[in-house]
Amino acid sequence: MGNYYQPEIETASREQIHQWQSERLINQVKHVWENVPFYKNKMIEAGITPDDIKSVDDLHKLPFITKDDLKDQYPYGLLGKPLSECVRIQSTSGTTGKRVVAFYTQHDIDIWEECCARAIVAAGGTKDDVCHVSYGYGLFTGGAGLNGGSHKVGCLTLPMSSGNTERQIQFMTDLGSTILCCTPSYAAYLGETIQEKGLKDKIKLKAGIFGAEAWTEEMRHDIEEKLGIKAYDIYGLTEISGPGVSFECSEQTGMHVNEDHFIVETINPKTGEVLPIGEKGELVFTCITKEAFPLIRYRTRDIGILSLEPCSCGRTHVKMTKPLGRSDDMLIVKGVNVFPSQIETVLMNKGYPANYQIIVDRVNNSDTIEVQVEMTAEMFSDSVGDISAKEKELVDALKAMLGIYAKVKLVSPKTIARSEGKAVRIIDNRNLYKG
Ligand SMILES: [Zn+2]
Repeated sequence: MGNYYQPEIETASREQIHQWQSERLINQVKHVWENVPFYKNKMIEAGITPDDIKSVDDLHKLPFITKDDLKDQYPYGLLGKPLSECVRIQSTSGTTGKRVVAFYTQHDIDIWEECCARAIVAAGGTKDDVCHVSYGYGLFTGGAGLNGGSHKVGCLTLPMSSGNTERQIQFMTDLGSTILCCTPSYAAYLGETIQEKGLKDKIKLKAGIFGAEAWTEEMRHDIEEKLGIKAYDIYGLTEISGPGVSFECSEQTGMHVNEDHFIVETINPKTGEVLPIGEKGELVFTCITKEAFPLIRYRTRDIGILSLEPCSCGRTHVKMTKPLGRSDDMLIVKGVNVFPSQIETVLMNKGYPANYQIIVDRVNNSDTIEVQVEMTAEMFSDSVGDISAKEKELVDALKAMLGIYAKVKLVSPKTIARSEGKAVRIIDNRNLYKG
């Protein structure tokens, strides 16, 4: 049995969770019908009124909302409370089109921070811990969410934000950080730097909570080894609140969704049909307690699988796999779906560091893909012939994984720009104007 932040909620019976979800969904649908004209119109179009929603079993009657709806309604179209009752906005880091701007009441912030507190406690956090938050602060939800969760648990919170790696490591050693929160790519980079400086013995870290970008099991093992910690996954998105929508427990076989606040469904992304638990589909979330930005049946584009198998941690909330792919990140190269996570798996299996970049281009109306991979210092001293042989080996392994030819270029250590926030893995030049 594990540690819980809110044991009576986290280990509630399935009947109790069903009851909470039903009551809260009914109230939420009334709330949006009365306060968000966008939802009222959508429900009228779908031929339903709040009276049609009598329990969580009626959820499927409600229409979906998509990222396009959020763009169309930017900035105030989905607001559920007067601005005078809102206390915060957070925003996505999207660079194309309009950003998503999400609003929060104080109640929304409290719930979000409680969700993050559950994740920290599940990772072993207590008031005796020093929680080192190296997610970006500001509009990005990572810093704010884990910072708030850390306060709720009572940890000594270090609001480091991202960047300035020297200072990060100095605080980590001088102040004895025990829990690290950041993106997995930055955790890998910190681990690499700490190893190079020979400081591993001076680090007191025991656990890390990593999210906001896709990472593989191979990368988890790499980070765990380099930092000497247990690495926990956390999932969330700004549209739904931020990190803490779901989080990993000690069993590390999926992330428990905070079902007292969010209802999760998986759907067939083509037909919208709701899939049974256990089938792979697009994750759809409904916020049942959020006031200011209450998204209902929001299509995430993340592909995942849900599970209600009993968990050894004692939590009863449904688990989701880490996103198995994200249609936003998915590249279509030569007509084939390519996920960066597939390429990463190949690289990690072959012993390469997680520093790579995928460059896609179009030459003579045909797609090309090149994967630039950093060598380790050891490989760098190999002969040119050895390096060519290594490239050939990676080309073959990538072809087996992706089904297409990808050029591989091994580059010198430290030549690919290091990420201090979200890693830039893909450079797609196909849409650039070529004069
Ligand atoms: Zn569990």
